[in-house]
Amino acid sequence: MKAKIIYTMDPEKPYGKYLLFNETTGNIEKVLDTLSNSELSNVEVIDYGDYLITPGIIDSHNHLLMMGLHYTFMVNLSDAHNIDDIIQKLREFSGKAEFPWILGYGLYEGRIGRLPTRWDLDKAASDKPVFIMHTSGHYAVCNSKALEIAGITKSTQDPPGGLIGREPDGTPNGILYEPAAMDLVRRYIPQFTVNHYKEAILKIQDEYLKTGITTVKDPGGTGGDIDEELRIRALNELSENNMLKVLVKICLPVFSYEDAKRKVTIARMIREGEKLTFLGFKIFMDGSGLARTAWMRDPWNKNFTEIDDDNRGIPTWNLEELRKTIDYLLSEFPNKMICIHTIGDKAVEEALNIIEDMKMKYPNVSFTLIHVYAPTSRDIERIRENGVMIETQTGFMHFLGKLIISNLGLIRTNRFMNIRNYLEQGIIVCNSSDSDVINHNPIYGLITSIYRTYYVNSIVNTLMNTHEMNPALCDISLYDAFKLYTLNAQRCVHDNSIVALKPGNKADFVVWDLNLLMRCFEDPINCLSNDNIIKNLVIATYINGKIMHKRVA
Ligand SMILES: [Zn+2]
Repeated sequence: MKAKIIYTMDPEKPYGKYLLFNETTGNIEKVLDTLSNSELSNVEVIDYGDYLITPGIIDSHNHLLMMGLHYTFMVNLSDAHNIDDIIQKLREFSGKAEFPWILGYGLYEGRIGRLPTRWDLDKAASDKPVFIMHTSGHYAVCNSKALEIAGITKSTQDPPGGLIGREPDGTPNGILYEPAAMDLVRRYIPQFTVNHYKEAILKIQDEYLKTGITTVKDPGGTGGDIDEELRIRALNELSENNMLKVLVKICLPVFSYEDAKRKVTIARMIREGEKLTFLGFKIFMDGSGLARTAWMRDPWNKNFTEIDDDNRGIPTWNLEELRKTIDYLLSEFPNKMICIHTIGDKAVEEALNIIEDMKMKYPNVSFTLIHVYAPTSRDIERIRENGVMIETQTGFMHFLGKLIISNLGLIRTNRFMNIRNYLEQGIIVCNSSDSDVINHNPIYGLITSIYRTYYVNSIVNTLMNTHEMNPALCDISLYDAFKLYTLNAQRCVHDNSIVALKPGNKADFVVWDLNLLMRCFEDPINCLSNDNIIKNLVIATYINGKIMHKRVA
């Protein structure tokens, strides 16, 4: 196979032009710069002329199943601009979904103008119940059929901690505020089954292949949203029937010491195979950078320069219980991985305290810190000293950057996702999407990691009304941006064998349209808002030497 250039990610031979692989074994035989006549007579050359070849993309933090459920069974309302858009999208969906309810997600009235009501949703479906979630997760809207199933009428009292939206005469208008009120309806929505989970995974993996993703680490659900036991059963069945195309690395979320015991039992149910492995456990140590609930040393800011009173966010664990829980998990699985969600700098500091102790007791365990928005320079040193890896999501800058930076404040923003600094310090940084927090397409992470300073400054400078920034100033090279998704990412998914394009490794690789990629490199802002470019960047995705996705010409 011939390309303009190959980024092999093999430190011994980083570049090449010819990738020779054996279609029968699926293994790479050689990477060369030229082909001799004798080699030419022995191989069939597929000429990808002007294209770039890289190893398959590893998305080291990607909620594969959750994304699949949304994609397969729910209506995406995140790009609806008005009430008519919502009705239209719900109508189109009701025609194809077999699920007895119509579920939606991504509702955001900031874009729409107002929240829809039951009467708006009745125009989309009157005989089928409809339930759509707000993007914050704090409220939802349902139609008249859903209210009828739940038995909610004018005389229904508001539940403690929740509020039923009403007309002036007390008639429920379909809006339900906070989980207590949403649960009045949610409890009637049928649970997804193993078969639903399987269908969701099969559908979404094909979408991932279109963007070059060949491996994901799936950290499961974030609360009551995924049944982890059903997830494992679905993945086991798909793996055993050779239906997984994307390599899935399972991480199990643990929410308490009691929960850890259950998760250890579930971990033992995992039947590892060629496309399925068990990686370790995920722990949430703090909240969110959008809602300013992540755990900080100093108070959160708001609107860039204001201080959010004394709000330093909140830890989600009692630290002693957390220590005990991690100790227990590692006593059961001393060679696995612990991935800790730490957005705030205080959470990072406390996580490192625990990691330092655990490393003495369990020297073989690997730790990653997820998100890590703005660590202190001392903690960056400790991260390096302890060989801890960072799972970042630089694509957040494109989608959520303005809100995150306005909450971090201008001073802390200097430390925000400073990828170049991490790399210079010798820290293993892996890039990921945290899909479906943002779109899974790796182009968002590639471009934002290259232009991290440009992104941060353009957000900050909009505020200051100056636009002096030269996109020619890259933080890191395109090669290094790919490294965060390949060579480095393989460390975050605990795998040393899968990535580099070198003899003996699997022929898993992506063929990129180099012209489109260069357009993104030269004009990042316009590229990322151009669907035509984003969706066509990948020409082909190969796994084990077999073509799994090919761009439609
Ligand atoms: Zn996540």
